[in-house]
Amino acid sequence: MRTVVVLFTRDLRVHDNPALHAACAMVDQVVPLFVLDPRIRAGAHRHRYLAGALADLRGSLRERGGDLVIRHGDPVTEAVRVARAAGAFGIGLAADASRYAADRQRRLATACARERLALKLFDGVSVVPPGALRPSGGGDHYKVFTPYWRAWQAYPRRAELPAPRRIALPPGLAPGELPDHDVPGGETVARHRLAAWRPAAADYADRHDDLAGDGTSRLSAALHFGCLSPVTAASVGVEPFVRQLCWRDFYHQVLAAFPDLPDKPYRPGVTEQWRHDPAALDAWRHGRTGVPVVDAGMRQLAAEGFLHNRARLITAAYLTKHLALDWREGARWYAERLLDADVANNCGNWQWVAGTGNDTKPYRRFNPVRQAHRFDPDGTYVRRWLPELAGVPGPAVHEPWRLPDPRRLDYPPPIVDGGSHG
Ligand SMILES: Cc1cc2nc3c(=O)[nH]c(=O)nc-3n(C[C@H](O)[C@H](O)[C@H](O)COP(=O)(O)OP(=O)(O)OC[C@H]3O[C@@H](n4cnc5c(N)ncnc54)[C@H](O)[C@@H]3O)c2cc1C
Repeated sequence: MRTVVVLFTRDLRVHDNPALHAACAMVDQVVPLFVLDPRIRAGAHRHRYLAGALADLRGSLRERGGDLVIRHGDPVTEAVRVARAAGAFGIGLAADASRYAADRQRRLATACARERLALKLFDGVSVVPPGALRPSGGGDHYKVFTPYWRAWQAYPRRAELPAPRRIALPPGLAPGELPDHDVPGGETVARHRLAAWRPAAADYADRHDDLAGDGTSRLSAALHFGCLSPVTAASVGVEPFVRQLCWRDFYHQVLAAFPDLPDKPYRPGVTEQWRHDPAALDAWRHGRTGVPVVDAGMRQLAAEGFLHNRARLITAAYLTKHLALDWREGARWYAERLLDADVANNCGNWQWVAGTGNDTKPYRRFNPVRQAHRFDPDGTYVRRWLPELAGVPGPAVHEPWRLPDPRRLDYPPPIVDGGSHG
């Protein structure tokens, strides 16, 4: 019997999973394995999502005659241990871009060589794998989005793979316990969400910036954990939406080439000067800056572990350009709270907003109040998240300090300059 281990990481699905598909097509027995690494600290929202995704994956694998084997510890040690116990000849997994993933891949290669196990990496985390596209003028990755988008559109897309029909697990392996979960999630929910959202994608260009309308796909967590394949998501085909998936690939190839993205400025030669102001940082974190649209965003983040892209732009620009506080603080706060927290997308976007990234206009400033009037014209989004301003009608909610008697509201005055400069 030829046996392999498929090490799941953030490709928690059975449909269009190149590593799982190849294993099921080529060998007799497959051990689908997930290792919970205690070194990865996930916030409560993400932990719940992951637990639901693993339960769903186990269900799908069991329906096909297999199982999801769960282990705790270092993924490299555990994968090799399970491979040995199962008599496997090799390990397959999806290649990934972060420093953590690259380190895991390097250590796996060393351990597999030592144990005489084959190791195979598969694409599957992005539509176009990092490194597949290189600018004609030289360099190992694209630094600017528009030429990348053009090359990305022309790149032949991998065909979607079906879910395996049957999975044969070698006997005698203890399945291991799933983390507790209380909500259904994972691939099944992600695929329903995609199907439900598909018809709305046609209006994406008109609706995606409307804060209150919430008209985006909300597929980011599913894409981050790989409950939905990015190739499947791209099959929606509506260009403005597919362009967003290209941004995701863009930041993944940036991260693969520049693993210091979470810590160091991406743009060479940038001098960073950030203020140290714990009180202002605290006000930002907890939605008490006195600028309603900023505070609404930060409260939504705390409550839902999600934030609309426009609200991410507004809150991030306010932290870095108005409060002049370090983008790393903001990125860390987001990373702990976002369900879709993703090193490439989070740090790439934070650096873009802070002006240390690949933005071609790094000195751009956002006026949060003007943004609020434009993207939440009647104030519905702000009232939804700031109950203390629920009685302020219409767009006046964006500038409560202009009301005749603002002190009657249980809401702080702006911590800097009326929040409206810039
Ligand atoms: C400061 C800041 C931090 C961010 N942090 C993250 C993060 O940690 N994880 C994350 O997935 N996205 C992040 N984004 C990008 C974007 O805001 C979210 O992907 C998007 O809001 C998720 O909602 P959605 O799934 O409804 O997106 P949709 O608008 O429906 O877009 C579809 C998909 O395209 C991708 N996408 C969309 N916009 C971007 C973008 N600007 N950059 C990269 N990919 C994009 C996402 O995978 C998203 O799910 C960040 C943006 C900013 C400005």
